[in-house]
Amino acid sequence: MRFWFIGYYQVLMSQEPKPDCCKVGRTIAAYNLFEFNNELRRRKESGSSLRELAEFMNTRVVERALEDAGVDIVGDPDDIYEKLTDDDVRSSQRKELESKLQQQGVDIEQLQSDFVSHQTMKWHLNDCLDIDTSRAATIDFERERGTIEWSQARCEKVISQSLSRLQQANELQTGSLHITQTVRVTCTDCNRTYKINDLLAERTCECYTDDEAEMR
Ligand SMILES: [Zn+2]
Ligand SMILES: [Zn+2]
Repeated sequence: MRFWFIGYYQVLMSQEPKPDCCKVGRTIAAYNLFEFNNELRRRKESGSSLRELAEFMNTRVVERALEDAGVDIVGDPDDIYEKLTDDDVRSSQRKELESKLQQQGVDIEQLQSDFVSHQTMKWHLNDCLDIDTSRAATIDFERERGTIEWSQARCEKVISQSLSRLQQANELQTGSLHITQTVRVTCTDCNRTYKINDLLAERTCECYTDDEAEMR
């Protein structure tokens, strides 16, 4: 009796979330994405980021929308998704693709509004699939910050020594020199640039917080 009970409990635990659990669940249902929660679990386990998972899902959504509309090939779904969303794509190019798809019966507005963000994907993994997406505990933030500070200080020292050798050799004529070095880092998703200390204080690029307001 006891074993039966444990077995039954496990079946309950592994049940799929309801189709209307959140925007991700509704989109999976609306586009009939087969076994999709299992695919998300599998990809998360093998190291996909939230952003990659959202892109993967949106690409499948594009693929299904094209199939449903019976579109004659206009390109592969990855390409089309990129053209519809990437900021680097010229807007004339995007308009052209949008009207091409529209003519073939794809509801572009609906499609665009069904795309999910990495934040929405995170909610779905955390709340609906019970997957922990917090950062790995083995990375020590303060230790990494220490390494960065050490290498900056070391770099300033090397520059300073070189400059004073040049001064001693009369190759450089100045008063005493003070060196300030600012490392800047750029997020290639949105091209925002930060001073490294500002980014380490914030820990999140603005492009990661922009669409947190997206409807769940
Ligand atoms: Zn969900
Ligand atoms: Zn960014």
